[in-house]
Amino acid sequence: NDLASLMDVSVNDVIAKCMNLGIFASINQRLDAETITIIADEFGYDVKFTEADDETEVFEEEDNPEDLKDRAPIVTIMGHVDHGKTSLLDFIRESKVTAGEAGGITQHIGAYDVMTESGKKVAFLDTPGHEAFTAMRARGAKITDVAIIVVAADDAVMPQTKEAINHAQVAGVPMVIAINKVDKPNANVEKIKEQLANINILVEDWGGKYQCQEVSAKTGQGIEDLLEKVLLEAEVLELKANANKSAVGTVVEAELDKGRGYLTTIMIQAGTLKIGDVVLAGAHYGKVKAMFDHKGQKVKEAGPSTPVLMLGLDGAPQAGDRFNVMETDREARDIANKREQIQREQSMRTKKHITLDEIGRRLAIGSFKELNVIVKGDVDGSIEALSDSLLKLSTEEIQVNIIHKAVGQISESDVLLASASDAIILGFQVRPSQNARKIADNEEIEIRLYSIIYDAINELKDAMEGMLAPTK
Ligand code: GDP
Repeated sequence: NDLASLMDVSVNDVIAKCMNLGIFASINQRLDAETITIIADEFGYDVKFTEADDETEVFEEEDNPEDLKDRAPIVTIMGHVDHGKTSLLDFIRESKVTAGEAGGITQHIGAYDVMTESGKKVAFLDTPGHEAFTAMRARGAKITDVAIIVVAADDAVMPQTKEAINHAQVAGVPMVIAINKVDKPNANVEKIKEQLANINILVEDWGGKYQCQEVSAKTGQGIEDLLEKVLLEAEVLELKANANKSAVGTVVEAELDKGRGYLTTIMIQAGTLKIGDVVLAGAHYGKVKAMFDHKGQKVKEAGPSTPVLMLGLDGAPQAGDRFNVMETDREARDIANKREQIQREQSMRTKKHITLDEIGRRLAIGSFKELNVIVKGDVDGSIEALSDSLLKLSTEEIQVNIIHKAVGQISESDVLLASASDAIILGFQVRPSQNARKIADNEEIEIRLYSIIYDAINELKDAMEGMLAPTK
Protein backbone atom coordinates (compact mmCIF):
# COMPACT_ATOMS: atom_id res chain seq x y z
CA ASN A 1 0.00 0.00 0.00
CA ASP A 2 2.78 2.43 0.96
CA LEU A 3 4.74 1.61 -2.14
CA ALA A 4 1.69 2.02 -4.37
CA SER A 5 0.87 5.43 -2.97
CA LEU A 6 4.48 6.57 -3.27
CA MET A 7 4.34 5.68 -6.96
CA ASP A 8 0.76 6.87 -7.36
CA VAL A 9 -0.46 3.59 -8.86
CA SER A 10 -3.20 1.23 -7.71
CA VAL A 11 -2.45 -1.25 -4.95
CA ASN A 12 -3.83 -4.03 -7.08
CA ASP A 13 -1.27 -3.34 -9.78
CA VAL A 14 1.51 -3.61 -7.22
CA ILE A 15 0.07 -6.83 -5.83
CA ALA A 16 -0.15 -8.20 -9.36
CA LYS A 17 3.51 -7.41 -9.95
CA CYS A 18 4.35 -9.13 -6.68
CA MET A 19 2.53 -12.21 -7.86
CA ASN A 20 4.56 -12.21 -11.04
CA LEU A 21 7.59 -12.45 -8.79
CA GLY A 22 6.03 -15.34 -6.90
CA ILE A 23 5.10 -13.24 -3.88
CA PHE A 24 1.52 -13.56 -2.74
CA ALA A 25 1.40 -10.22 -1.02
CA SER A 26 -1.32 -8.82 1.18
CA ILE A 27 -2.01 -5.11 1.17
CA ASN A 28 0.08 -4.59 4.31
CA GLN A 29 2.89 -6.89 3.29
CA ARG A 30 6.43 -5.84 4.10
CA LEU A 31 8.68 -6.18 1.08
CA ASP A 32 12.42 -6.52 1.11
CA ALA A 33 14.73 -4.05 -0.57
CA GLU A 34 15.35 -6.21 -3.62
CA THR A 35 11.64 -6.74 -4.31
CA ILE A 36 10.87 -3.05 -3.87
CA THR A 37 13.59 -2.20 -6.35
CA ILE A 38 12.32 -4.67 -8.95
CA ILE A 39 8.70 -3.58 -8.62
CA ALA A 40 9.50 0.14 -8.66
CA ASP A 41 11.56 -0.46 -11.76
CA GLU A 42 8.57 -2.06 -13.46
CA PHE A 43 6.65 1.15 -12.88
CA GLY A 44 9.57 3.23 -14.10
CA TYR A 45 10.87 4.39 -10.73
CA ASP A 46 14.37 4.38 -9.29
CA VAL A 47 14.70 3.52 -5.62
CA LYS A 48 17.02 5.14 -3.10
CA PHE A 49 17.11 3.72 0.41
CA THR A 50 17.92 6.01 3.28
CA GLU A 51 19.36 4.38 6.36
CA ALA A 52 16.92 6.05 8.70
CA ASP A 53 14.06 4.24 6.98
CA ASP A 54 15.24 0.80 7.93
CA GLU A 55 13.82 -0.07 11.30
CA THR A 56 15.64 -3.38 11.36
CA GLU A 57 19.15 -1.92 11.26
CA VAL A 58 21.21 -1.02 14.30
CA PHE A 59 23.17 2.19 14.08
CA GLU A 60 26.84 1.56 14.81
CA GLU A 61 28.89 4.59 15.77
CA GLU A 62 32.26 5.27 14.18
CA ASP A 63 35.26 5.04 16.47
CA ASN A 64 37.69 7.82 17.27
CA PRO A 65 41.11 6.81 15.95
CA GLU A 66 42.66 7.29 19.40
CA ASP A 67 40.36 4.62 20.89
CA LEU A 68 41.58 1.96 18.50
CA LYS A 69 43.96 -0.69 19.81
CA ASP A 70 45.62 -3.62 18.04
CA ARG A 71 43.49 -6.74 17.87
CA ALA A 72 44.28 -10.36 17.01
CA PRO A 73 43.66 -11.65 13.47
CA ILE A 74 40.72 -13.97 12.83
CA VAL A 75 41.74 -16.89 10.63
CA THR A 76 39.88 -19.44 8.49
CA ILE A 77 41.47 -22.64 7.20
CA MET A 78 40.40 -23.72 3.72
CA GLY A 79 41.52 -26.31 1.21
CA HIS A 80 40.68 -29.57 -0.52
CA VAL A 81 38.98 -32.39 1.37
CA ASP A 82 41.40 -34.67 3.25
CA HIS A 83 44.29 -32.26 2.91
CA GLY A 84 44.26 -31.78 6.66
CA LYS A 85 42.12 -28.75 7.56
CA THR A 86 40.49 -30.41 10.55
CA SER A 87 43.78 -31.95 11.70
CA LEU A 88 45.50 -28.57 11.61
CA LEU A 89 42.70 -26.88 13.53
CA ASP A 90 42.74 -29.70 16.08
CA PHE A 91 46.50 -29.65 16.45
CA ILE A 92 46.64 -25.91 17.00
CA ARG A 93 43.73 -25.99 19.43
CA GLU A 94 45.05 -28.91 21.45
CA SER A 95 48.75 -28.03 21.51
CA LYS A 96 47.91 -24.67 23.01
CA VAL A 97 46.00 -25.90 26.00
CA THR A 98 48.47 -25.51 28.84
CA ALA A 99 48.92 -28.55 31.00
CA GLY A 100 46.74 -28.48 34.08
CA GLU A 101 43.97 -26.40 32.57
CA ALA A 102 40.68 -27.64 33.95
CA GLY A 103 38.94 -30.20 31.85
CA GLY A 104 41.07 -29.70 28.78
CA ILE A 105 38.92 -29.59 25.67
CA THR A 106 35.34 -29.75 26.77
CA GLN A 107 33.34 -28.36 23.94
CA HIS A 108 33.54 -27.59 20.27
CA ILE A 109 32.20 -24.05 19.98
CA GLY A 110 32.97 -23.22 16.37
CA ALA A 111 35.86 -20.89 17.11
CA TYR A 112 38.84 -20.61 19.43
CA ASP A 113 41.78 -18.37 20.17
CA VAL A 114 45.35 -19.28 21.05
CA MET A 115 48.51 -17.56 22.20
CA THR A 116 51.57 -18.07 20.01
CA GLU A 117 55.04 -18.58 21.44
CA SER A 118 55.83 -14.95 20.61
CA GLY A 119 53.02 -13.95 22.95
CA LYS A 120 50.52 -12.83 20.34
CA LYS A 121 46.94 -14.00 19.99
CA VAL A 122 45.39 -15.60 16.91
CA ALA A 123 41.70 -16.48 16.67
CA PHE A 124 40.46 -19.33 14.48
CA LEU A 125 37.09 -20.12 13.02
CA ASP A 126 36.83 -23.81 13.82
CA THR A 127 34.59 -24.74 10.92
CA PRO A 128 36.93 -25.80 8.15
CA GLY A 129 36.15 -25.33 4.51
CA HIS A 130 34.95 -22.57 2.30
CA GLU A 131 31.29 -23.47 2.67
CA ALA A 132 31.16 -21.83 6.08
CA PHE A 133 33.26 -18.94 4.79
CA THR A 134 30.89 -18.42 1.87
CA ALA A 135 27.72 -18.82 3.90
CA MET A 136 28.93 -16.06 6.20
CA ARG A 137 29.91 -13.81 3.35
CA ALA A 138 26.53 -14.38 1.75
CA ARG A 139 25.03 -12.76 4.86
CA GLY A 140 27.36 -9.82 4.49
CA ALA A 141 29.60 -10.85 7.36
CA LYS A 142 33.25 -10.07 6.86
CA ILE A 143 34.92 -11.82 9.71
CA THR A 144 38.02 -13.55 8.32
CA ASP A 145 41.19 -11.44 8.27
CA VAL A 146 43.61 -14.06 6.95
CA ALA A 147 42.98 -17.38 5.19
CA ILE A 148 45.26 -20.39 5.50
CA ILE A 149 45.10 -22.46 2.33
CA VAL A 150 46.08 -26.06 3.05
CA VAL A 151 47.54 -28.29 0.34
CA ALA A 152 48.67 -31.84 1.08
CA ALA A 153 52.25 -32.42 -0.05
CA ASP A 154 51.50 -36.05 -0.93
CA ASP A 155 48.64 -35.01 -3.20
CA ALA A 156 48.25 -32.05 -5.54
CA VAL A 157 46.54 -28.72 -6.05
CA MET A 158 42.96 -29.93 -6.37
CA PRO A 159 39.66 -28.37 -7.51
CA GLN A 160 38.70 -27.33 -3.99
CA THR A 161 42.16 -25.86 -3.45
CA LYS A 162 41.52 -23.61 -6.41
CA GLU A 163 38.03 -22.85 -5.19
CA ALA A 164 39.33 -21.91 -1.75
CA ILE A 165 41.97 -19.62 -3.26
CA ASN A 166 39.32 -18.09 -5.44
CA HIS A 167 36.99 -17.45 -2.49
CA ALA A 168 39.76 -15.76 -0.53
CA GLN A 169 40.72 -13.62 -3.51
CA VAL A 170 37.16 -12.56 -4.26
CA ALA A 171 36.73 -11.60 -0.60
CA GLY A 172 40.00 -9.69 -0.64
CA VAL A 173 41.37 -11.79 2.22
CA PRO A 174 45.16 -12.33 2.27
CA MET A 175 46.36 -15.94 2.15
CA VAL A 176 49.14 -17.96 3.69
CA ILE A 177 49.83 -21.31 2.04
CA ALA A 178 50.33 -24.30 4.34
CA ILE A 179 51.86 -27.30 2.61
CA ASN A 180 50.76 -30.09 4.92
CA LYS A 181 51.69 -33.73 5.49
CA VAL A 182 55.40 -33.09 4.95
CA ASP A 183 56.09 -35.96 7.37
CA LYS A 184 54.94 -38.40 4.71
CA PRO A 185 57.65 -40.19 2.71
CA ASN A 186 55.97 -39.39 -0.59
CA ALA A 187 55.61 -35.67 0.19
CA ASN A 188 56.67 -33.49 -2.72
CA VAL A 189 56.72 -29.86 -1.70
CA GLU A 190 58.33 -28.54 -4.89
CA LYS A 191 55.63 -30.15 -7.01
CA ILE A 192 52.95 -28.33 -5.01
CA LYS A 193 54.76 -25.00 -5.39
CA GLU A 194 55.00 -25.55 -9.11
CA GLN A 195 51.31 -26.37 -9.38
CA LEU A 196 50.51 -23.24 -7.38
CA ALA A 197 52.66 -21.22 -9.75
CA ASN A 198 50.64 -22.65 -12.62
CA ILE A 199 47.53 -21.01 -11.19
CA ASN A 200 49.36 -17.73 -10.60
CA ILE A 201 50.00 -18.26 -6.92
CA LEU A 202 53.74 -17.67 -6.70
CA VAL A 203 55.13 -18.43 -3.26
CA GLU A 204 57.94 -16.33 -1.81
CA ASP A 205 60.85 -18.65 -2.57
CA TRP A 206 59.61 -18.80 -6.14
CA GLY A 207 59.86 -15.02 -6.25
CA GLY A 208 56.20 -14.42 -5.51
CA LYS A 209 54.32 -12.59 -2.78
CA TYR A 210 52.63 -15.48 -1.03
CA GLN A 211 54.03 -16.72 2.26
CA CYS A 212 54.24 -20.47 2.39
CA GLN A 213 55.02 -22.88 5.22
CA GLU A 214 55.71 -26.59 5.26
CA VAL A 215 53.78 -28.19 8.11
CA SER A 216 52.67 -31.48 9.53
CA ALA A 217 49.44 -31.63 11.45
CA LYS A 218 50.61 -35.00 12.66
CA THR A 219 54.00 -34.11 14.18
CA GLY A 220 53.41 -30.40 14.64
CA GLN A 221 56.40 -29.51 12.48
CA GLY A 222 56.24 -25.95 11.16
CA ILE A 223 52.99 -25.02 12.86
CA GLU A 224 54.48 -22.35 15.12
CA ASP A 225 56.15 -20.84 12.05
CA LEU A 226 52.84 -20.93 10.23
CA LEU A 227 51.25 -18.94 13.05
CA GLU A 228 54.07 -16.39 12.90
CA LYS A 229 53.51 -15.99 9.15
CA VAL A 230 49.81 -15.43 9.78
CA LEU A 231 50.76 -12.74 12.31
CA LEU A 232 53.09 -11.14 9.80
CA GLU A 233 50.26 -11.01 7.27
CA ALA A 234 48.01 -9.52 9.94
CA GLU A 235 50.56 -6.86 10.81
CA VAL A 236 50.31 -5.46 7.31
CA LEU A 237 46.54 -5.17 7.76
CA GLU A 238 46.97 -3.07 10.94
CA LEU A 239 43.93 -4.67 12.55
CA LYS A 240 42.48 -2.47 15.23
CA ALA A 241 39.37 -2.28 17.35
CA ASN A 242 37.92 -0.19 20.15
CA ALA A 243 37.50 -2.41 23.20
CA ASN A 244 35.84 0.28 25.32
CA LYS A 245 32.35 0.24 23.93
CA SER A 246 29.35 -2.07 23.64
CA ALA A 247 30.23 -5.27 21.86
CA VAL A 248 29.55 -5.91 18.17
CA GLY A 249 30.34 -9.11 16.36
CA THR A 250 29.16 -12.00 14.25
CA VAL A 251 27.33 -15.21 15.04
CA VAL A 252 29.51 -18.24 14.26
CA GLU A 253 27.21 -21.05 15.30
CA ALA A 254 24.02 -21.59 17.27
CA GLU A 255 22.36 -24.66 18.63
CA LEU A 256 19.63 -25.75 20.96
CA ASP A 257 20.81 -27.58 24.04
CA LYS A 258 18.13 -29.57 25.81
CA GLY A 259 19.25 -28.50 29.27
CA ARG A 260 20.65 -25.03 28.76
CA GLY A 261 18.54 -23.54 26.00
CA TYR A 262 20.02 -21.76 23.01
CA LEU A 263 23.83 -21.73 22.86
CA THR A 264 25.27 -19.12 20.55
CA THR A 265 28.92 -18.86 19.61
CA ILE A 266 29.87 -15.36 18.64
CA MET A 267 33.08 -13.78 17.50
CA ILE A 268 33.40 -10.39 19.13
CA GLN A 269 34.85 -7.94 16.63
CA ALA A 270 34.84 -4.73 18.65
CA GLY A 271 33.84 -3.61 22.10
CA THR A 272 33.54 -5.77 25.19
CA LEU A 273 30.67 -8.11 25.95
CA LYS A 274 29.63 -8.49 29.59
CA ILE A 275 27.25 -10.66 31.56
CA GLY A 276 23.87 -8.95 31.73
CA ASP A 277 24.25 -7.09 28.42
CA VAL A 278 21.12 -7.01 26.29
CA VAL A 279 22.01 -8.50 22.96
CA LEU A 280 20.37 -8.58 19.57
CA ALA A 281 21.56 -11.21 17.10
CA GLY A 282 19.74 -11.52 13.81
CA ALA A 283 16.07 -12.01 14.64
CA HIS A 284 16.70 -13.01 18.26
CA TYR A 285 17.48 -11.21 21.48
CA GLY A 286 18.10 -11.78 25.17
CA LYS A 287 20.26 -10.95 28.15
CA VAL A 288 23.70 -12.57 28.41
CA LYS A 289 23.22 -15.09 31.22
CA ALA A 290 26.61 -16.76 31.03
CA MET A 291 29.64 -16.90 28.75
CA PHE A 292 32.24 -19.61 28.21
CA ASP A 293 35.50 -19.73 26.33
CA HIS A 294 36.38 -22.63 24.04
CA LYS A 295 37.86 -24.52 26.96
CA GLY A 296 34.48 -24.49 28.65
CA GLN A 297 35.63 -22.03 31.29
CA LYS A 298 33.29 -19.31 32.50
CA VAL A 299 34.21 -15.78 31.52
CA LYS A 300 32.68 -12.53 32.76
CA GLU A 301 33.63 -10.39 29.81
CA ALA A 302 35.17 -10.78 26.38
CA GLY A 303 36.88 -8.28 24.10
CA PRO A 304 37.74 -7.93 20.39
CA SER A 305 38.75 -11.05 18.38
CA THR A 306 37.54 -13.32 21.16
CA PRO A 307 35.06 -16.10 20.49
CA VAL A 308 32.64 -16.98 23.28
CA LEU A 309 29.74 -19.28 23.75
CA MET A 310 26.87 -17.35 25.27
CA LEU A 311 23.62 -18.34 26.91
CA GLY A 312 20.51 -16.22 27.01
CA LEU A 313 19.11 -15.69 23.51
CA ASP A 314 15.46 -16.56 22.87
CA GLY A 315 16.25 -18.51 19.69
CA ALA A 316 19.03 -19.56 17.36
CA PRO A 317 20.32 -16.84 15.04
CA GLN A 318 22.04 -17.88 11.81
CA ALA A 319 25.77 -18.13 11.20
CA GLY A 320 26.90 -14.79 9.84
CA ASP A 321 24.18 -12.76 11.57
CA ARG A 322 25.34 -9.47 13.05
CA PHE A 323 25.41 -9.21 16.80
CA ASN A 324 24.86 -5.94 18.72
CA VAL A 325 24.46 -4.86 22.31
CA MET A 326 21.37 -2.70 22.80
CA GLU A 327 20.49 -0.09 25.39
CA THR A 328 17.19 -1.62 26.45
CA ASP A 329 15.41 -4.92 26.34
CA ARG A 330 12.53 -3.29 24.59
CA GLU A 331 14.62 -1.84 21.77
CA ALA A 332 16.20 -5.26 21.18
CA ARG A 333 12.83 -6.99 21.18
CA ASP A 334 11.27 -4.50 18.76
CA ILE A 335 14.01 -4.93 16.18
CA ALA A 336 14.14 -8.71 16.67
CA ASN A 337 10.39 -8.94 16.12
CA LYS A 338 10.51 -6.81 12.99
CA ARG A 339 13.33 -8.91 11.58
CA GLU A 340 11.47 -12.09 12.39
CA GLN A 341 8.33 -10.83 10.70
CA ILE A 342 10.29 -10.02 7.56
CA GLN A 343 11.99 -13.42 7.62
CA ARG A 344 8.65 -15.16 8.01
CA GLU A 345 7.07 -13.27 5.18
CA GLN A 346 10.05 -13.87 2.95
CA SER A 347 10.03 -17.56 3.69
CA MET A 348 6.42 -17.71 2.51
CA ARG A 349 7.46 -16.89 -1.00
CA THR A 350 9.49 -18.63 -3.57
CA LYS A 351 13.07 -17.51 -3.29
CA LYS A 352 13.94 -17.60 -6.93
CA HIS A 353 12.57 -14.67 -8.85
CA ILE A 354 11.22 -16.29 -11.90
CA THR A 355 9.85 -14.18 -14.72
CA LEU A 356 6.49 -14.65 -16.45
CA ASP A 357 8.22 -15.50 -19.69
CA GLU A 358 10.23 -18.19 -18.03
CA ILE A 359 7.17 -19.77 -16.39
CA GLY A 360 5.34 -19.59 -19.70
CA ARG A 361 8.22 -21.17 -21.53
CA ARG A 362 8.56 -24.03 -19.07
CA LEU A 363 4.81 -24.59 -18.90
CA ALA A 364 4.68 -24.61 -22.65
CA ILE A 365 7.10 -27.48 -22.82
CA GLY A 366 5.13 -29.16 -20.07
CA SER A 367 7.99 -29.69 -17.69
CA PHE A 368 7.60 -26.99 -15.09
CA LYS A 369 8.04 -28.42 -11.63
CA GLU A 370 9.29 -27.07 -8.37
CA LEU A 371 10.19 -28.80 -5.18
CA ASN A 372 9.80 -26.74 -2.00
CA VAL A 373 11.78 -27.90 0.99
CA ILE A 374 11.92 -26.86 4.64
CA VAL A 375 15.14 -27.80 6.45
CA LYS A 376 15.34 -28.04 10.23
CA GLY A 377 18.44 -29.23 12.09
CA ASP A 378 20.37 -29.15 15.32
CA VAL A 379 23.22 -26.87 14.25
CA ASP A 380 23.41 -24.09 11.74
CA GLY A 381 26.50 -25.53 10.05
CA SER A 382 24.82 -28.76 9.01
CA ILE A 383 21.67 -26.91 7.91
CA GLU A 384 23.75 -24.70 5.64
CA ALA A 385 25.68 -27.67 4.27
CA LEU A 386 22.51 -29.67 3.63
CA SER A 387 20.67 -26.72 2.08
CA ASP A 388 23.56 -25.90 -0.20
CA SER A 389 23.75 -29.50 -1.42
CA LEU A 390 20.00 -29.67 -1.94
CA LEU A 391 20.00 -26.50 -3.99
CA LYS A 392 22.67 -28.02 -6.17
CA LEU A 393 20.30 -30.88 -7.02
CA SER A 394 18.22 -28.44 -9.06
CA THR A 395 18.00 -29.37 -12.71
CA GLU A 396 16.44 -27.83 -15.79
CA GLU A 397 13.28 -29.79 -15.02
CA ILE A 398 13.04 -29.33 -11.29
CA GLN A 399 13.95 -26.36 -9.21
CA VAL A 400 14.68 -27.04 -5.55
CA ASN A 401 13.59 -24.18 -3.28
CA ILE A 402 14.58 -24.05 0.36
CA ILE A 403 11.66 -21.99 1.57
CA HIS A 404 12.67 -22.09 5.21
CA LYS A 405 15.62 -23.29 7.25
CA ALA A 406 16.29 -22.95 10.93
CA VAL A 407 17.79 -24.57 13.99
CA GLY A 408 15.39 -26.39 16.29
CA GLN A 409 12.67 -28.96 16.56
CA ILE A 410 10.17 -29.29 13.71
CA SER A 411 7.30 -27.12 14.93
CA GLU A 412 3.63 -26.59 14.14
CA SER A 413 4.46 -23.47 12.20
CA ASP A 414 6.92 -25.43 10.03
CA VAL A 415 4.15 -27.87 9.16
CA LEU A 416 1.69 -25.07 8.46
CA LEU A 417 4.20 -23.40 6.21
CA ALA A 418 4.78 -26.70 4.41
CA SER A 419 1.04 -27.07 3.95
CA ALA A 420 0.62 -23.54 2.63
CA SER A 421 3.45 -23.86 0.16
CA ASP A 422 3.26 -27.54 -0.68
CA ALA A 423 6.65 -28.39 0.75
CA ILE A 424 8.32 -31.38 2.30
CA ILE A 425 10.16 -31.11 5.61
CA LEU A 426 13.64 -32.51 6.18
CA GLY A 427 14.81 -32.86 9.76
CA PHE A 428 18.51 -33.33 10.43
CA GLN A 429 19.21 -34.66 13.95
CA VAL A 430 15.89 -33.18 15.13
CA ARG A 431 12.36 -34.54 15.50
CA PRO A 432 8.91 -33.02 15.15
CA SER A 433 7.02 -31.90 18.25
CA GLN A 434 3.91 -33.93 19.08
CA ASN A 435 1.59 -31.26 17.77
CA ALA A 436 3.60 -30.84 14.63
CA ARG A 437 3.42 -34.59 14.06
CA LYS A 438 -0.38 -34.53 14.50
CA ILE A 439 -0.94 -31.69 12.06
CA ALA A 440 1.45 -33.24 9.59
CA ASP A 441 -0.58 -36.45 9.67
CA ASN A 442 -3.82 -34.56 9.13
CA GLU A 443 -2.49 -32.39 6.36
CA GLU A 444 -0.51 -35.23 4.81
CA ILE A 445 2.75 -33.36 4.97
CA GLU A 446 5.81 -35.47 4.53
CA ILE A 447 8.43 -35.19 7.24
CA ARG A 448 11.69 -37.03 6.69
CA LEU A 449 14.26 -37.40 9.43
CA TYR A 450 17.95 -37.96 8.87
CA SER A 451 21.11 -38.26 10.87
CA ILE A 452 23.45 -38.36 7.89
CA ILE A 453 23.50 -35.49 5.41
CA TYR A 454 24.52 -37.78 2.60
CA ASP A 455 21.38 -39.92 3.08
CA ALA A 456 19.14 -36.88 2.88
CA ILE A 457 20.73 -35.74 -0.35
CA ASN A 458 20.58 -39.16 -1.95
CA GLU A 459 16.96 -39.75 -1.04
CA LEU A 460 15.91 -36.39 -2.37
CA LYS A 461 17.86 -36.98 -5.53
CA ASP A 462 16.09 -40.29 -6.08
CA ALA A 463 12.72 -38.70 -5.40
CA MET A 464 13.45 -36.00 -7.93
CA GLU A 465 14.37 -38.49 -10.53
CA GLY A 466 11.03 -40.19 -9.89
CA MET A 467 9.26 -36.90 -10.29
CA LEU A 468 10.68 -36.26 -13.70
CA ALA A 469 8.16 -36.43 -16.46
CA PRO A 470 8.62 -39.62 -18.50
CA THR A 471 10.60 -38.85 -21.62
CA LYS A 472 8.81 -39.85 -24.76
P1 GDP B 1 40.20 -32.29 5.96
O1 GDP B 1 39.20 -33.04 5.16
O2 GDP B 1 40.95 -31.30 5.12
O3 GDP B 1 39.67 -31.68 7.22
O4 GDP B 1 41.34 -33.35 6.36
P2 GDP B 1 41.58 -34.13 7.73
O5 GDP B 1 42.13 -33.21 8.76
O6 GDP B 1 40.35 -34.89 8.08
O7 GDP B 1 42.74 -35.12 7.31
C1 GDP B 1 42.55 -36.15 6.37
C2 GDP B 1 43.45 -37.31 6.71
O8 GDP B 1 44.83 -36.92 6.60
C3 GDP B 1 43.29 -37.82 8.12
O9 GDP B 1 43.37 -39.23 8.10
C4 GDP B 1 44.48 -37.23 8.87
O10 GDP B 1 44.87 -38.04 9.95
C5 GDP B 1 45.54 -37.18 7.79
N1 GDP B 1 46.47 -36.09 7.99
C6 GDP B 1 46.19 -34.78 8.14
N2 GDP B 1 47.31 -34.06 8.29
C7 GDP B 1 48.35 -34.92 8.24
C8 GDP B 1 49.76 -34.77 8.32
O11 GDP B 1 50.32 -33.69 8.45
N3 GDP B 1 50.50 -35.93 8.19
C9 GDP B 1 49.94 -37.13 8.01
N4 GDP B 1 50.74 -38.18 7.90
N5 GDP B 1 48.61 -37.30 7.93
C10 GDP B 1 47.81 -36.21 8.04
